[in-house]
Amino acid sequence: MAIIGIDLGTTNSLVAVWDGEPRLIPNALGEFLTPSVVGVDNNQEILVGSLAQERLYTHPDHTVAHFKRDMGTDRITSLGKHRFRPEELSALVVKSLKRDVEAYLEKPVTEAVISVPAYFNDTQRKATRAAGELAGLRVERVINEPTAAAMAYGIHHREKETTILVFDLGGGTFDVSILEFFDGIMEVRASAGDNFLGGEDFTQSILQGFLDFSQIDKSQLDHKTRNRLRHNAEWAKQALSQQESFVFQFPGKPEFQEWTLDHELLESLSKPLIDRMRVPVERALRDASLGSHDLDSILLIGGATRMPLVKSLIAKMFGKLPLSHIHPDEAVALGAAVQAGLKARDEALNEFVLTDVCPYTLGVETIHMEDSGKLKEGYFCPMIERNTVIPASRVEQFANISRFQSRVEVPVYQGESRMVKNNIHLGDLKFPIPRGRPGTQTVEVRFTYDINGILEVEATVVSTGLKKRLVIEKNPGVLSKEEIERRLQQLAVLKIHPREETENRHLIAKGERLYEEALGKNRIDISDELSLFEGALDKQDPSRIRKARERFKKFLAILEEEMRSL
Ligand code: AMP
Repeated sequence: MAIIGIDLGTTNSLVAVWDGEPRLIPNALGEFLTPSVVGVDNNQEILVGSLAQERLYTHPDHTVAHFKRDMGTDRITSLGKHRFRPEELSALVVKSLKRDVEAYLEKPVTEAVISVPAYFNDTQRKATRAAGELAGLRVERVINEPTAAAMAYGIHHREKETTILVFDLGGGTFDVSILEFFDGIMEVRASAGDNFLGGEDFTQSILQGFLDFSQIDKSQLDHKTRNRLRHNAEWAKQALSQQESFVFQFPGKPEFQEWTLDHELLESLSKPLIDRMRVPVERALRDASLGSHDLDSILLIGGATRMPLVKSLIAKMFGKLPLSHIHPDEAVALGAAVQAGLKARDEALNEFVLTDVCPYTLGVETIHMEDSGKLKEGYFCPMIERNTVIPASRVEQFANISRFQSRVEVPVYQGESRMVKNNIHLGDLKFPIPRGRPGTQTVEVRFTYDINGILEVEATVVSTGLKKRLVIEKNPGVLSKEEIERRLQQLAVLKIHPREETENRHLIAKGERLYEEALGKNRIDISDELSLFEGALDKQDPSRIRKARERFKKFLAILEEEMRSL
């Protein structure tokens, strides 16, 4: 039975399988990148991928993107009659990828390895695992994205002794990992990151730059205009990866002055973001006890590393250029498939060993006694420090602080701050203890961090032997087993658009989007071509539909190119 490797991205998702080597699987449109976008049409049918992405502009209230940023929260998105949690939206993307693999392999798929940003916290990892389960998959392993990308690289460079830094800037997250390869062993030395920094933030800074230049107040813009301007900012950002400048206009509003964006202006607009990228790189180097000159290569992954400003930052920080033969969009899914191959104990991978680390510190809240004898709450006591090799297990003993104390509460946190209020609260352990003089009732707290980056906390009252496991599922960002089961049933009955109709419906959605974006003669042409194509579909004659589709596709491609260069 094939295990699939999934890169569940903020902007795009990909799927790959292992069959002696990692292989990407195309979606119904023949593409490897499936936009992580979900929508609902008028018949309450669920749309996923490019088809939904086209409707982001025409049906903004019935379409959603970037929900990976909400993973681990209980934010609800309403789409038509449906209401979804972030892991359910992700599950719909995973389901779509699963369906693509099943169509390609012509057999059912039940198991998966799913990648997550290295810096995803415990709650976000559990939500990702839940997304896989809600899509009807057993999630064999949750793997860190930079580690996966390094595996895709390492599979071809197993014999070399080398130290690499993976710089992973996706749509919504930024991760840095430093890895060493020797004797077929791949060891992650350190990981660091920023869960709220990605290509999307650069798009937003371009948009803000234009609004400031034109003195437009964003809150005065309607949803569609805002979307349209964001779309233009995205175009500008991507265009600057290939050209020197981009002329930004307010679509349909010639009264606004043109704004020319070039590399220098983009760098100055995004200076705070560029400065933020330095922080995890410096921390990872420090934690790995390495200097920038100790790195043999820099691997760039994630779509946003195509921005020239990333390459110039790398050149400034490391005095060398990054490797250029790794595909920034594909490496993570390919690496997840290598991990799937390892899980399936494929012989070709027998010599390949991987060790990973816990990217952040995990610990509990403690109380300190001040010199005056006063007790002060809110201190963080680290249990597993960041960049400890996983799996890891640590035990600490804590004692009662008052003779009247009959309960112990162990709040669990993740983060690096001395005070827990600045860290992320993961959950609480609460249990009774016998009364006794201060310091006489001890509780043993054990933290176990597994290879998937998932935490288990267990506490034992030494005098009674009472054991308690932390049920982090009570966290509002995490679904319990029962909830997953219930929602699995609900998702299973949703109507998902038929795979075989994807291409035709995608073209119609694209035609409708371009119609809304265009003006004048272009609109009339689009409307005529749409009617022709819809007419051909109504006839239900496959050869006629094929011909009409080719014609319509060509027409849309030319028109889109023309409109882009307007
Ligand atoms: P990922 O999450 O890895 O799919 O990366 C998506 C991010 O990459 C988005 O923010 C895109 O805007 C960005 N991106 C994709 N292509 C380019 C490009 N040519 N230039 C700049 N950014 C890009």
